Amino acid sequence: MAGEPQDDCLFCKIVAGQIPATIVRETDTTLAFRDINPQAPTHVLVIPKAHYETAAALAAAEPQLAADVLGATQAVAEDEKLESYRTVFNTGSGAGQTVWHAHAHVIGGRGLHWPPG
Ligand code: 5GP
Ligand code: ZN
Repeated sequence: MAGEPQDDCLFCKIVAGQIPATIVRETDTTLAFRDINPQAPTHVLVIPKAHYETAAALAAAEPQLAADVLGATQAVAEDEKLESYRTVFNTGSGAGQTVWHAHAHVIGGRGLHWPPG
């Protein structure tokens, strides 16, 4: 069923507490934790606790949950005292998605170039 935890999903395992993570924020529906391979002084991943493979699938199935994730990214940026930062959803392998549980990257704490390439 849509949104159900998947046994082979890394981020579902983090939600279940089966894999450790440095959690910075948690709500009923979302979890935010530090990226294991940070690309900037702040690099936090924000996920829905429910499993959707991509941000597109999440937004289509549960728009309120997608809004919860977006709201959590802004709360993380505030907690981290970021004045400028980037919120990124990589969708599809061609865009760099490697973990198939929807997630937003919140990246900041250094200068960021645009366009990203
Ligand atoms: P993607 O490339 O799918 O947009 O982002 C996946 C992110 O998950 C990468 O930035 C990667 O460093 C991070 N990641 C992969 N495995 C783990 C893990 O076990 N723990 C944490 N905290 N982050 C992970
Ligand atoms: Zn998952």
